[in-house]
Amino acid sequence: MTGVTGPSPTLGSARAGGPPPPDRRRFLTAGAAVLGAAASAQLWLPAVARAAETPLPDGVFSLGVASGDPLPDGIVLWTRLAPDPLNGGGVPDRVVSVEWELAADERFRKSVRRGLAQARPEYGHSVHVDVRGLHPDRTYWYRFRAGGQLSPAGRTRTAPHPDSRGGALRIALASCQNWQHGYFTPYADLLEQDPDVVLFVGDYIYESSPSATAVRQHEGKGEPYTLEQYRNRYAQYRTDPDLAAVHAHVPWVVTFDDHEVDNDFAGEVPQDPDKQSHDAFVARLTAAYQAYYEHMPVRATAVPDGPHIRMYRRLEFGRLVRLNVLDTRQFRSDQATTQEGAESPSRTMLGAEQKQWLLDGLHDSPARWNLVASQIMMAETDLQTGPGKLWFYDAWDGYQAERNALLEEFKTVRNPVVLSGDRHLTMISDLKEDFADPGSAVVGAEFVGTSISSNGDQDQAAFHAEWDPLKPDNPHWKVIDAHRGYHLLDVRRDGIDAEVRVVDTVVKPEATPSTLARLRVEAGRPGVEVV
Ligand code: FE
Ligand code: CA
Repeated sequence: MTGVTGPSPTLGSARAGGPPPPDRRRFLTAGAAVLGAAASAQLWLPAVARAAETPLPDGVFSLGVASGDPLPDGIVLWTRLAPDPLNGGGVPDRVVSVEWELAADERFRKSVRRGLAQARPEYGHSVHVDVRGLHPDRTYWYRFRAGGQLSPAGRTRTAPHPDSRGGALRIALASCQNWQHGYFTPYADLLEQDPDVVLFVGDYIYESSPSATAVRQHEGKGEPYTLEQYRNRYAQYRTDPDLAAVHAHVPWVVTFDDHEVDNDFAGEVPQDPDKQSHDAFVARLTAAYQAYYEHMPVRATAVPDGPHIRMYRRLEFGRLVRLNVLDTRQFRSDQATTQEGAESPSRTMLGAEQKQWLLDGLHDSPARWNLVASQIMMAETDLQTGPGKLWFYDAWDGYQAERNALLEEFKTVRNPVVLSGDRHLTMISDLKEDFADPGSAVVGAEFVGTSISSNGDQDQAAFHAEWDPLKPDNPHWKVIDAHRGYHLLDVRRDGIDAEVRVVDTVVKPEATPSTLARLRVEAGRPGVEVV
């Protein structure tokens, strides 16, 4: 669904500032195809040769580099030119040619691919290069050059060969990084743990207004509504050094939740319909999705079409892992307001099309592990101690008929595990076929990966005083905790070994990390156990 007019912002188009010289045109029409050595040498020109053709302000690579959505033979490389990141970017309003290079070594002596991409003003001078023809399960290094300036080097990794059955995949599950609630200290530890991929399940930015009492303040004067305001907010987040370092070191697989647009929105319904007309909210969605695409290392399939963006997709890691990434925001019915409403079969979370896509992908899967990346928690949270139940209506509990039907399907899916965020808590649970029946079968496991910084440093005693009394009402919970951090999952054929990695603080730029809990999901045995 690329409804944009004009060429795609990915590489392969030759119109960068007038017609290219003949030998360059010959290369450019080949897109990301293998280059001849002569053409490569032409492209990676010395800085001085290109300076006259693309004069740019200093510091065009202030937002760093990133990679994402690894394939067995491909990877998306990302950067965005922004010498003045918090004020619209600062690149002159014209197309800028950006050279990119991918190498087999850290020092770029063994160059593998080179090319020229266009940073277009209508995409905020972002660059998305979808490199193909690479080797599976291989580490590569990449960098960009524009206007004589060289980007920091990034490291990335392709997915294993489609037929590869064994091996291990280390996934870091992260979500919810509120700039104002703290520094992104868990990322310093995440970098040390050297995962193969970071799975980020939403709330990459928060749209809240600057707060004078925050640990560090949001830029701007209020919530973002326009494209430039969203760009500035993303750019501010990217200036966090721990976040930037992880982007430059590991490929990410991302999806958005609500705060990338507006708290608790559902489809085209905003949080406060009284404060934003439908037309105004559609314009806001358009700006928010556009800025999201511009800042994420995702394929051209995610180029927004007005107020629509295609984010649900599958990634395969050999025959070990199939990762189904969901979009639980864009196609959902508006939230229930009563317990009865939460149980209504008329309410959908995924929409008919995505739901069928998910079921097909779960049942047809050749993979040992079928992971579902859901922004929001799937296991029940009963908030009422003793008889009776009380649910959060924004999570899957508010869409019970569809959730329960999906859990029923899980019985015939090979090793389903759900990876979620949103809750700003670690909540690790068995998934039950029917949460209303305490004796019902366990059909899977769920990891809700706390938050990077959202909710800040919580009072752990107060958390447990409030939540521990709910444990008898939620016997499927294995770990609940309120530290900031992320989850690390080592997936192998025989099982998943998971660690809850937490930090002692996010109100200072540096923190002490530790392992809060270790868990195991055994292949062929649904559910999760603390070890
Ligand atoms: Fe959040
Ligand atoms: Ca209860």
